[in-house]
Amino acid sequence: MMSKDGNGRYTGGCQCGAVRFAVEGTLGRPSICHCRMCQKAFGGFYAPLVGIGRARLAWTRGEPKRFQSSNHVKRGFCADCGTPLTYEAPDGVALAIGAFDDPAALAPVMQYGIEGRLPYVDGLPALPALRTEDEITAAAYLETIVNHQHPDHDTAEWPPHGQVT
Ligand SMILES: [Zn+2]
Ligand SMILES: [Zn+2]
Repeated sequence: MMSKDGNGRYTGGCQCGAVRFAVEGTLGRPSICHCRMCQKAFGGFYAPLVGIGRARLAWTRGEPKRFQSSNHVKRGFCADCGTPLTYEAPDGVALAIGAFDDPAALAPVMQYGIEGRLPYVDGLPALPALRTEDEITAAAYLETIVNHQHPDHDTAEWPPHGQVT
């Protein structure tokens, strides 16, 4: 059910491509954590995380910088672009689901830290919704966008030869 790349691995990394990882084996249960510490660490409403369990994690390009967010936990992130990447506790390491090349394969099955759940989170799916290309007023702007983020697959060379980022 969970998709892996052609080598039977999960891959992912930060938005700028300076840090890439690969995981071989069976991951833990994907989850989200609503606690205030995770909100701050991700700059988000909650943290989407999957524990690596007994799977083998390898940093295939670069490595995260870590911030000791409490006496027990370190948070890994790309020092170049700031993408949150890890939650590292004494009992194991978890990876940020959105950093995987195929996050759709990692559907959360559990919520943690619900005492910190923001009051509007449950109402988000009911908000008015637009596709990016449906915003007619943004059409001209969209045509000028050049994406500098790393693509959702491993690359032999990054950034592409000659590209200034
Ligand atoms: Zn980066
Ligand atoms: Zn948390």
